[in-house]
Amino acid sequence: MPQSPPEVKKLLFYDTTLGAVMLIAVSLFLTSTCQAIGRDKITIVLDPGHSGKEIQGVDKRTNLIDHDYPNHPEMEETYRVARAVGARLEKAGYKVIYTKKDVADTVSLRERATVGQESHAALGVSIHNDHGKSYKSFGQVYEQGLGQWRGGTQSRPKAKFENKDIAAVSAAYAKIFARERTKVEQHTVAVTPISFDNRPGIEPGNIPQVMLFAGTEPNAIPWIYNEVGGKNFGSEEERLYAQGIANSIEKCVSNTSKKQ
Ligand SMILES: [Zn+2]
Repeated sequence: MPQSPPEVKKLLFYDTTLGAVMLIAVSLFLTSTCQAIGRDKITIVLDPGHSGKEIQGVDKRTNLIDHDYPNHPEMEETYRVARAVGARLEKAGYKVIYTKKDVADTVSLRERATVGQESHAALGVSIHNDHGKSYKSFGQVYEQGLGQWRGGTQSRPKAKFENKDIAAVSAAYAKIFARERTKVEQHTVAVTPISFDNRPGIEPGNIPQVMLFAGTEPNAIPWIYNEVGGKNFGSEEERLYAQGIANSIEKCVSNTSKKQ
């Protein structure tokens, strides 16, 4: 290849440098514009438990029975908690999406996970309470753990949770939820295992199906599942539960950076 005369080389150098600088400037401009118009908001999906009508479908991708049912007054209470959490997060600058638009909506577990995945949420949060347990003595958090399963048997499950990256994030977030909820809810909240074995109509295993679905590619997202005692669950307990969950989400996913 013949040598370029020095002035051509110089020109090429300036041209390339100018191009790179222009590219950086344009990308900085676009970044700040996106932030300014709010497209950069972090999305959180809130998932209040249970459906208005009984549903019993079969999930096409895993062949798992996708079962949910109305549960009163858990449904009404956790829906109000979700709305209170969402209102606080919106004020703090998050984008909030709910898996149910109304307390009586019927939404399958697969559909709930899809809402989270399609919105590219930084985190999904299920909110339940258990009227068989007293508020004072019961607070639990479930994480998406590697090797957790549903359907069939543990040695031959229909579906197994195998997403290492999501498992690591979910475990870190679950610890934060247990810590932050314990601080405000006036009882101890712990990260615990959960079993769905020997529950008629429900697939055996040890991961809530919504979390299994949400944490599976494509568009896998971390998901945390919350339980609390529902006996003596009055307006004060509702307020404390909402505060505990909102504090936890803010500690997990800061709305001032994209850090997760
Ligand atoms: Zn429930």
